[in-house]
Amino acid sequence: MKEARATLSPSVEDYLKTIFSLTERNEVASTSSIAAALDVQPASVTGMVKRLAGAELLQHIPYRGVRLTGKGIREALRVIRRHRILETYLVQQLGYLWDDVHDEAEQLEHAASENLIDRMAVALENPSHDPHGSPIPTSSGEIESVDFTTLAEATEGERVRIRAVDDDKEPQGLQSMEARGLVPGVWVRVKSRVPGKGRLVVRIEGGTEGEQSVGDDLARRIFVTPDT
Ligand SMILES: [Zn+2]
Repeated sequence: MKEARATLSPSVEDYLKTIFSLTERNEVASTSSIAAALDVQPASVTGMVKRLAGAELLQHIPYRGVRLTGKGIREALRVIRRHRILETYLVQQLGYLWDDVHDEAEQLEHAASENLIDRMAVALENPSHDPHGSPIPTSSGEIESVDFTTLAEATEGERVRIRAVDDDKEPQGLQSMEARGLVPGVWVRVKSRVPGKGRLVVRIEGGTEGEQSVGDDLARRIFVTPDT
């Protein structure tokens, strides 16, 4: 028998998911970073953080911020699994475009049962990654660890592979990435940086588009690993 799903409110689930993401690259998440990511006031973050600490879902690190407990991580991974399976299902089974699934998944992730999600996963033959390249946690709560930097941090001459893209912002960015072939799996060489402009000139390997200029906003949403 599977562990019964804890009844957490959508807002609690969103906090856990957000804190998990923020602590993937930094050890702790600060109140201000949580407020910015959720687009809420720092005062409301403080209130919610107290509640979550009371429920043993996170712990305070004095003067630095918060991090999830083991229990908090388990709950966060369940929400992330639901979100990513839903996005994959919408794209693969229902023909949605990759820039059109995030908002649907944001709603449905709070409503779908574990059973529905598991059945969707089986119908999809247990995908390992969502349409944006992010790893999907398993039903037992394992997730591939990610150690990505962004294309914005790549240096001149560097060859990098696109692993995933951030779908959590306006969809026009995803449309632009797709139109330019900047999608998970492709190799990119940074030809040059335009000084002071925050722009990169890149060439996609095997692409027919030639060199392309990529703005800093877009480059920050593209996660890469170096060619080692
Ligand atoms: Zn999403």
